[in-house]
Amino acid sequence: MAIDSIEALGSIMELSDEERAWDPEGPSTLPVLISDHIASLLAIPQIRRQFVPTAAENEDTACSLDPQEEAKHQGTGRLVHRYSRRAAFLTTDRCFAYCRHCFRRRFSGSLAGPADEDEIRQAAEYIASHPLISEVLLTGGDMFTLSDSHIDMMLSVFRSVCPSVILRLCTRAAAVCPERFTPQLMGIIRKHKDGAPMYLMTQFNHPEELTPDALSAVAAFVDMGIPAMNQSVLLRGVNDDEETLISLCSRLLMNRIKPYYLFQGDPVRGTAHLRVDIERGLEIERNIRRALSGLAMPQYTADLPEGGGKVILTHQYLRGKAPGTDGRYIFDTPDGGTRYYPE
Ligand code: SF4
Repeated sequence: MAIDSIEALGSIMELSDEERAWDPEGPSTLPVLISDHIASLLAIPQIRRQFVPTAAENEDTACSLDPQEEAKHQGTGRLVHRYSRRAAFLTTDRCFAYCRHCFRRRFSGSLAGPADEDEIRQAAEYIASHPLISEVLLTGGDMFTLSDSHIDMMLSVFRSVCPSVILRLCTRAAAVCPERFTPQLMGIIRKHKDGAPMYLMTQFNHPEELTPDALSAVAAFVDMGIPAMNQSVLLRGVNDDEETLISLCSRLLMNRIKPYYLFQGDPVRGTAHLRVDIERGLEIERNIRRALSGLAMPQYTADLPEGGGKVILTHQYLRGKAPGTDGRYIFDTPDGGTRYYPE
């Protein structure tokens, strides 16, 4: 049974003063919910920090709950249409465990509930009437908190109304509730997997999250031909050091999960204590790029406020045209040297 309050958590383990001082009525709104799987890992500080709130959340009141202004880009009630070629469908507000760094605090854990069949159909019809949209993110919340029959119905509607659209199954469940991926659920996924591609979009932030159960859950998708891509968030006190990220990305790749994004934490209210300064993020990015292959290297990315879009954050290797060299370019090398490149 999942833990759903700080009091319940305090009854099974000792809380620090900072954790006990978290105010559930505070300005950052996200409730506490911790799955059994995560509860078994809370002795690991980098996992605990992602799921157990502290008073620091209450102190951060400056930022918005919706820095991406998703609410202004609604295609339908549950469909966010912010980019011309892709859209995000908010399947439910519910997750198996609420991440304290959640960027969708305006919605996650808000008691909005699962999208019903009418809302799903409306979204699918909107997508079908916007032929530029080629990818839909089934997100939330976490789509796998829906019942098997609800997932079956939702995939049936999307596949029948907009069959040529790529579906990204966005979930934290492999990391936080791997037992959800039962043979019955995987049978439903198999039933709908043919046609336009499906991708599994995971979120693993620390190597200790790559438990055998988590990896088996992802392997079940990859074995049926659904590629897995990982979206990590750079988090202070969790993975803001080179060694941790190199280990995470190497292990992901070894387990057939492509490290795709390393997100700069969004400026969401209640998360300032988890964000890493961009200057330090750039230093980490440069250092891990030296150690990782291109395939293992995620893109360090910021999602700009007010719907500004995603931008890649990387060291500027090209310094410009070198003076007095007939137009040759001058570059920094990954190891800190300098090279000239012909025009
Ligand atoms: S699983 Fe995703 S939507 Fe849910 S709390 Fe974590 S980051 Fe937010």
